[in-house]
Amino acid sequence: MNKFTNGCVHVMNLLEGAHHIIETIEQAGGEAYIVGGAVRDMLLDRLPGDYDLASSLLPEQIIDLFPVVIPTGLEHGTVTVVLNHVPYEITTFRSEATYSDRRRPDAVTLGVSLEEDLTRRDFTINAMALRPTGRVDLFGGEQDIKERIIRTVGTPKERFDEDALRMMRAFRFMSQLEFDLDPATEQAITELAPHLAAVAIERIAIEFEKLLLGPGKQQALNAMLRTGIERYLPGMDAIIIEALAKQSLQGVSKDAVWTLALDAGLTRDQLTRWKRSKQQVHLAARLAPLVHRPLTDWDRYQLSDEELDVLRQMTGNDYPDRSDLPIRGRKELAVDGKDMIRFGLRKQQIKEALLHLEFGVVVHAFRNDQASLMEEVKRWHIQSENKS
Ligand code: ATP
Ligand code: MG
Repeated sequence: MNKFTNGCVHVMNLLEGAHHIIETIEQAGGEAYIVGGAVRDMLLDRLPGDYDLASSLLPEQIIDLFPVVIPTGLEHGTVTVVLNHVPYEITTFRSEATYSDRRRPDAVTLGVSLEEDLTRRDFTINAMALRPTGRVDLFGGEQDIKERIIRTVGTPKERFDEDALRMMRAFRFMSQLEFDLDPATEQAITELAPHLAAVAIERIAIEFEKLLLGPGKQQALNAMLRTGIERYLPGMDAIIIEALAKQSLQGVSKDAVWTLALDAGLTRDQLTRWKRSKQQVHLAARLAPLVHRPLTDWDRYQLSDEELDVLRQMTGNDYPDRSDLPIRGRKELAVDGKDMIRFGLRKQQIKEALLHLEFGVVVHAFRNDQASLMEEVKRWHIQSENKS
């Protein structure tokens, strides 16, 4: 079986699993539907990454129906049913009461109708429900998918006033799907952009990362500029967003996505305000200075094979791997710390001497054999003593 059929069988099984869950719930007297992103993706002829379900049954009723159920978010009415090792999130139909902090609903009410559940969702394209017997589309989601438009369910101002993160989600979906923004939705964002300041930066960062990785990044960022929302993103301004929009770097991985922002002018300090992981910040800071200049042997020596691969993908340059370098690490140097101690160097000097030798060997200035390197240490030592 080749890779393609393998993938198809897997995807078929995912959908079959979802249908099995729906039928089981229906036989128990409940209702269940595939909802959200999966319905949208199927209409777009894209393979959904996962199938989320919504049901009229309460979590405890769902727990009784399936052998393996994990109570992943009982307070929101969510459980995860595991079928053939595949997790399916099932959330009880719910509505959301007022959002007094513009971040999270004050309370969720379980056990409402499907219609209410769909009404609380953000965009028409994300607010459809599907079961084997038919599709429920109350807000013209299918039409908006045909016309490639991001439009809120209900009055845009009210919906962004409830949850300001939705404004960032609008741009994220624009970029991922290469859709346009409905003019009334855009106008509401222009008016309510300052509300974004109340949203946790971690949640904004997730949406912004997805935006930067999407094929419609340029259109999405240009739409952001039209609304002025960039002023409420830490460290960002119109110049950086414009630079991000024009960027030619391709094939960026999720781990390396912040390299784009540093390359566009965000500083490392500003990036820390986005509360990204240490690894993400570190990787971005290492890679950003390298994406627009040829790599020296010393650059290649300092990069890991994985980092070199990320740079190849981002720049389209076919950098040679590290196998042609005289050494691939300090351990391959023909001398080590002990040789430096025997020579009479102290702690700090040892570090500096080894770095000097390492650099010289990598850039082909010195041969990597013990005699030449010790000769070089002597020369380096006399020179540094003279300097101090
Ligand atoms: P992806 O494929 O990127 O996961 P998705 O549509 O599944 O896209 P999620 O963030 O996983 O997006 O959300 C799942 C669904 O929950 C959405 O399709 C939408 O119906 C609803 N939703 C998520 N976040 C919000 C929100 N802030 N306000 C209203 N509805 C939301
Ligand atoms: Mg999802």
